[in-house]
Amino acid sequence: MRKKIVAGNWKMNNALGQSIQLAEEITEQLASINNEAVVVLIPSFIALASIEKIISGQKNIFLGAQNVYPKMNGAYTGEISTEMLKSVDVKYVLVGHSERRDLFYESAEFLKEKIEALLQADLTPIFCCGESLTIRQEQKQEDFVRIQLEKSLLHLSAKQILNCVIAYEPIWAIGSGLNASAEQAQQMHQFIRETISEKYDQVTANSISILYGGSCKPDNAKSIFSQPDVDGGLIGGASLKAKDFISIIQSI
Ligand code: PEP
Repeated sequence: MRKKIVAGNWKMNNALGQSIQLAEEITEQLASINNEAVVVLIPSFIALASIEKIISGQKNIFLGAQNVYPKMNGAYTGEISTEMLKSVDVKYVLVGHSERRDLFYESAEFLKEKIEALLQADLTPIFCCGESLTIRQEQKQEDFVRIQLEKSLLHLSAKQILNCVIAYEPIWAIGSGLNASAEQAQQMHQFIRETISEKYDQVTANSISILYGGSCKPDNAKSIFSQPDVDGGLIGGASLKAKDFISIIQSI
C-alpha cells in the first residue's frame, strides 16, 4: 500500500526561534492524535539541525529540505549538498517547486540532475509539477504536466521511481486561496498515475504517492484527500500554524 504523506513547506518563513517553537508545537500535538500519515517538516536550512533533535525518536515524522545542489561538494557558494542534508537526517527534498522553476529559472534538465543526486544519496525527492492558469484555461494541463514528468522524472528505472514522491501543485492554486476542486485534483492525479503506468506498469504506478498542493486548508483537505488517487498534501501557508497543520493531517 502506498504511503499517505502530509508535508509542510515553510518556505522562507520563520527565524530559528519561531521554527523551533512551531516544530515543538506540531510534535507535541501529533503525539496526542491517532495519526497514520507520514508527516514531513520542511523548514529553512538554518532550522534543520535543531528540528532534527525535536523530532528524533518520534513516530511518523521526518525532516525535509527545500532545495539541494546536485554536486558532491566544492566551489558552489550558497548551495547545499546531499551529504550536508543527510548529516542532519533529512529524508525528503523538494524538487521542481514552481517558485524555484519561475523565480530561479531552474530548468527541467537541472531538476533531473537533482533527482539523480538525491536518489544516489538515498534521499527521497518530492517532485513538484503543475500548470499555470493560462494553461488550465486552454485545457492543456495534462499535456503540460506529462511533459514536466517526461523531462525530469520518467527516465528513471522502475526501481528508482518507486523512491520518489510526486506533488501535483497547480500554480494558480499556490498561495492564492484558490484550491483545485476535489474533482480537478482527482482528474490530474489519475492522469499522472496513468502516465506512470503507461511508462512502467500498473503495480509501479499504484505504489507511488501523489500529493496535492495549492491552498490546501483545514476546510478543504478532507474532500481533496478523500479522492482515490490523492495520497496526501504538500502544504504551504497552512503548515505555518500548528493547529491548522494538525487538522489537515487529521483529514487523511
Ligand atoms: C506550496 O508552496 O507548495 C503550497 C502548496 O503553498 P500553499 O499551500 O500556501 O498554496
